[in-house]
Amino acid sequence: MAPGFKEERQGPGPRLLCDAMLGSLCRWLRFFGLDCEYAGVEAADAEVGARAEAEGRWLLTADRELAGRGPRTMLVRSVELEDQLVEVLGRLRLEVRADLNGSRCSECNGSLVEQDRDQVGDDVPSYVLKTAERFTRCERCQRVFWPGTHGKKILARMQRVVDRVNVER
Ligand SMILES: [Zn+2]
Repeated sequence: MAPGFKEERQGPGPRLLCDAMLGSLCRWLRFFGLDCEYAGVEAADAEVGARAEAEGRWLLTADRELAGRGPRTMLVRSVELEDQLVEVLGRLRLEVRADLNGSRCSECNGSLVEQDRDQVGDDVPSYVLKTAERFTRCERCQRVFWPGTHGKKILARMQRVVDRVNVER
């Protein structure tokens, strides 16, 4: 394991940057509440490395060569998404739960802030406004989320990952 994760798991956890090949992993790490930016498909390797360094992020990459370039990189060896999540969360040694309450915006990695019903009235369907129990809004892209936005399949998958991470510890 790369040095430094242990220190950074105090507080909000390590800040991460996923390379172009790890877009799904990036999105799912956000469900788990990790601050994870996506490099995008157009960024060159050198730019990705420079961004990770400039923003103080660990670079997660599936590219062995890119992983070898800097000290704050993690080579993701797994290919399937669930395996990747188990691999990364296991190596980060973070306490993870199948719970979307601490999530970041899955679309853009912004922080989600609690909203009252009257703050989201224009942004959600009327049946949701009547029935949903709580709302959050991404402070970056302004998307509104509510329980059910992501459905039970996501929570079930998160639980499978958590169970595997805990077994492998
Ligand atoms: Zn967002």
